[in-house]
Amino acid sequence: MALELAEAHLRGLLAQVGLDAEYVRGEGDTLWWRTPSGDVPVVDFVGGYGSLVLGHNHPALVERARELLDQRVPVHAQFSYHPYANDLAAALNRVLWREFGTDEPYSAIFANTGAEAVEVALKHAEMDRVGKLARLRAEIDEHLASADPELAARARAHNEGRFDLPPVFLTLEGSFHGKLAGSVQLTHNAGYRLPFRGLAAQARFVPPAEVTKAVEAERVTVLDVVDGELVERDLPVVAAFFVEPVQGEGGIRVLEADVAAEIRAAADAAGFPVVVDEVQSGVGRTGAFYAASHVGLLGDYIVLAKAIGGGLAKSSVLLVRRSRYLPEFELLHSSTFAKDAFSCHIGAKVVELLEADGGAAYRRAAERGEALAAALRAVRDEFPTVVADVRGRGLMLGLEFHDRTGGEGGVAEYARMGLLGYVLAGYLLREHHVRVFPTASATHTLRFEPSIEISDEHIDQLVTGLRAVCAALRDQDDSALLPG
Ligand code: PMP
Repeated sequence: MALELAEAHLRGLLAQVGLDAEYVRGEGDTLWWRTPSGDVPVVDFVGGYGSLVLGHNHPALVERARELLDQRVPVHAQFSYHPYANDLAAALNRVLWREFGTDEPYSAIFANTGAEAVEVALKHAEMDRVGKLARLRAEIDEHLASADPELAARARAHNEGRFDLPPVFLTLEGSFHGKLAGSVQLTHNAGYRLPFRGLAAQARFVPPAEVTKAVEAERVTVLDVVDGELVERDLPVVAAFFVEPVQGEGGIRVLEADVAAEIRAAADAAGFPVVVDEVQSGVGRTGAFYAASHVGLLGDYIVLAKAIGGGLAKSSVLLVRRSRYLPEFELLHSSTFAKDAFSCHIGAKVVELLEADGGAAYRRAAERGEALAAALRAVRDEFPTVVADVRGRGLMLGLEFHDRTGGEGGVAEYARMGLLGYVLAGYLLREHHVRVFPTASATHTLRFEPSIEISDEHIDQLVTGLRAVCAALRDQDDSALLPG
């Protein structure tokens, strides 16, 4: 056998539960699985972890890609004028203005992946914070230079070291914002985060019910002397609040409107930006282009990735509202591949397809999402001792199983290793030709993120598989679920 060098360890783990399938063709919601007896169609509910809102190889996107290649469009022409990037940014703005009822322009910084765009947001927010800190420090220094020496000395003693405090990033419990050195600090899952906690500034993970309290807990003040009196001034310690409109990897958890409003109000009161991470939930999946529009949460920064590449390109973008945008940032952050012509043109086509016919695609996402949710709820109602919950919005849905870690047998053993969802995924693939995965940080929850074209037949195929899973779990029939 050939030497395995591309993440062979991972493949070994996938093989244990029968998930090391090779897919050789993809179209819409169907993948073809290469097996010794021929290529087998599999219904794909993973949807590229959210990148395939229009399905695999959407014909209009493939045609656009062909055109670009046929026309010899220069894909890499860095440090030149990129009208196509501007066109995509303008298209994203038009949708944003409509969905949020605003007219403030948002500037776009392009990147390549979700985590990278999150890091762009981290850097931009920190640059903003450091600038504010420097201005405050200069102002206080000036005041102290002409103040009563005793008061000035007291202020200096109090302020000692405070201007050098590291930034704090706030985010909700269960959040997932990526796995790079900075973004992984905002990813709640301890397994992903803790080995790398020494690499970058830390986040605080806030329970949704305690947003205001958590912001207050971070309050740090310095002393100034104004009109001959010592006064407290707030130090900008919190750099940003990151939030997903629907938590994806945390188990498909929809942000409640009251929590969204509390985050917005706390940020406005303290002066830090809200970063809305729409990497997984954005670009049409929830029945609107921007998932945060359902709860009226207008971010100061908005992160898009995954589906903006149409399943063909790798791209991401950070949108920053004009009133908070730092143009100097453009000279400090760049990437060889970002803002390339291919991904910008594909991104513009994705927006065009979603916006066509007065937003028919969003209505379709909502309608298909409701059909899928109703089917999942029926499974829950049939197996209440097995299924704990069905939740989500549009075509971003999750089905959570009751805890299985307590019992005996092989399935419980996998559950204790955090692999319940993967074992069930292996079974569904093998026996029902349905591809699902658990969310990354909540492995008792299966996620469903098919394209807006998902058919009733495909939903039925999933439900047949899920009912068999639930019956086997209910009857503790491990041999039915585990690979032979
Ligand atoms: N943010 C969110 C909300 C995500 O779901 C993900 C990926 N699952 C990321 C960021 C990271 O994106 P990428 O995998 O493209 O780095």
